Amino acid sequence: MQSLNRPQSSLATRPHSLEQAQSLEQARAEYEAHTRGCRQCLADTVPCAAAKHLRRVYNNLTRAARPRPGGR
Ligand SMILES: [Zn+2]
Repeated sequence: MQSLNRPQSSLATRPHSLEQAQSLEQARAEYEAHTRGCRQCLADTVPCAAAKHLRRVYNNLTRAARPRPGGR
């Protein structure tokens, strides 16, 4: 647990990206936790409405977190 000594220069230049990365990570964790705990998702190969919603949130965050080429 001592690998936290990295310089934060790259993160400090992009505070918004860091926030997005955190919410993105959270959204993915929620989606994975759901698919593991949801009976319907486990029994069916098709994700239920809640799983679809969580995945959509995750996809939106992924798109938002990705730097747009030429978007500056
Ligand atoms: Zn589900």
